[in-house]
Amino acid sequence: MKLALFDDWQVGCIEEQLVVDITDIVPGWSNTWPYGWLLPFIAAVHEDPMMIQSALAKSPRKPLEAVRLRAPVPWPSKVIAAPVNYKRHQNEMGGKSGVYAGANIKTIEDYGLFLKPSSSIVGPGECITLPFKGRRTDHEAEIGVVIGRKARNLVESEADGVIFGFTGLLDLSVRGGEDRPFRKGFDGFCPIGPWVVTKDEVKDMDALSFRLDVNAERRQVGNTRDMIYSIRRLVSLASYQTTLYPGDVIATGTPEGVGEVRPGDRLRLEVDAIGVLEIDVDDNYAEPPPHMGEWFNQFLVSRGAPV
Ligand code: MN
Repeated sequence: MKLALFDDWQVGCIEEQLVVDITDIVPGWSNTWPYGWLLPFIAAVHEDPMMIQSALAKSPRKPLEAVRLRAPVPWPSKVIAAPVNYKRHQNEMGGKSGVYAGANIKTIEDYGLFLKPSSSIVGPGECITLPFKGRRTDHEAEIGVVIGRKARNLVESEADGVIFGFTGLLDLSVRGGEDRPFRKGFDGFCPIGPWVVTKDEVKDMDALSFRLDVNAERRQVGNTRDMIYSIRRLVSLASYQTTLYPGDVIATGTPEGVGEVRPGDRLRLEVDAIGVLEIDVDDNYAEPPPHMGEWFNQFLVSRGAPV
């Protein structure tokens, strides 16, 4: 099943090139923020996927190209993210020619996991604005794991039971020395989509390949088999730190090929068995806050990465 939100936050299932509107069976549905009704609905579908079958048969359909897709989980309780989780990305960040040349870039054992705010989530087709003219912002192509059941203290073998599905995810990141939640938490810095594909449709989560093009240029090619911490291990680790809730999203880390995002770019992430997530980047950087003026940019430039 491919679960999507579309148009005015209606709930749909994707069938080939059609969207089946199943909004009528979603308890408490409303088109206003924070879309909290989605989380118990995900939990209910996770426990009983058949509950939507009768709605699927009789609900109205629309051509996919006629709808505006939204972020499939617009307001989870949290986005938990893995730092350095692919060996070759670890190398490109440190080493001799890395973004942090000479630095010894560590792994999850050293950094732990970090959080991105739910307010950084955007959906397919949205336009994001880069926050700082003088700072480098990078793309990180990732797989997002969506949780289906409240859970805590899981061992790896229990992870399958709580994974609802998968979605494409971009972990946009300003480079520099500040803590990750600051650099990776700006509005628009967590595009997800184009929908959530339930776990049963992904044959092997440890062999899921994906690729990111910026404009027409291939930048990143990844496969989850190259992860340092597997998806199941990440779910387990995350559940020891914090209770997982239905709808929670886990960003699983990025492979090599991380590169700069520039104004006017179009990012296109394609994940096998999931689909294509496209995001546009505004032609202009964000203006510094008026009361801070250029000082704000300079302050951040001086503290930034050596790029
Ligand atoms: Mn990342």
